[in-house]
Amino acid sequence: MRILILGPQGSGKGTQAKLMAATYGVPHVATGDILREAIAAGSELGRRVRPIYERGDLVPDELMIDLIRERLADEEGFVLDGFPRTVPQAEALDEMLGEIDKPLDVVLLLDVSDEVALRRLLGRLEEEGRSDDTPDAARNRLRLYHELTEPVVDRYRAVGRVVTVDGEQAVDQVAAAIEDALRVGSRRP
Ligand code: AMP
Repeated sequence: MRILILGPQGSGKGTQAKLMAATYGVPHVATGDILREAIAAGSELGRRVRPIYERGDLVPDELMIDLIRERLADEEGFVLDGFPRTVPQAEALDEMLGEIDKPLDVVLLLDVSDEVALRRLLGRLEEEGRSDDTPDAARNRLRLYHELTEPVVDRYRAVGRVVTVDGEQAVDQVAAAIEDALRVGSRRP
């Protein structure tokens, strides 16, 4: 199963991606987690991306594309979370998967308002202490989502691949809605 999950930060993507990864027995590939690990380890990648990450800006496309190409190279299935965030990243992903004839099975969009997303992001400040959950960085990330990632959603929507789920419901309700959506999706010829 190859699943792409899209939605703004604070939409509950990470939580749902982990649940789906466990259900389907595939890795949860989250670019934000990969970057946080690199930052924590103080690797060359980590040192390079840290200031960008802390401002809530986007890491350059080429760097992210190389990273994901390497990470997905030997995977049959995955739940991809946090990538693609820009149209060039989406083009690269489609090309990558096209070359090996392993297209995405489904693109899920978790729909939440900016108000809910921002409230959740700022709530996470206290719980997880993420260094990019400051009010300024959180607002910046939402702005970039609308500007650069929504065109990615439109791109997949144009080819009819997007299933939208209301992300403002409770975690288990969202999980149930996703399960229904995937069941319907897999019945399609
Ligand atoms: P996330 O955990 O997905 O919210 O990602 C946290 C931060 O990592 C983002 O605000 C960006 O700085 C960076 N990041 C993660 N994925 C990408 C990506 N695909 N393209 C560019 N930057 C990314």
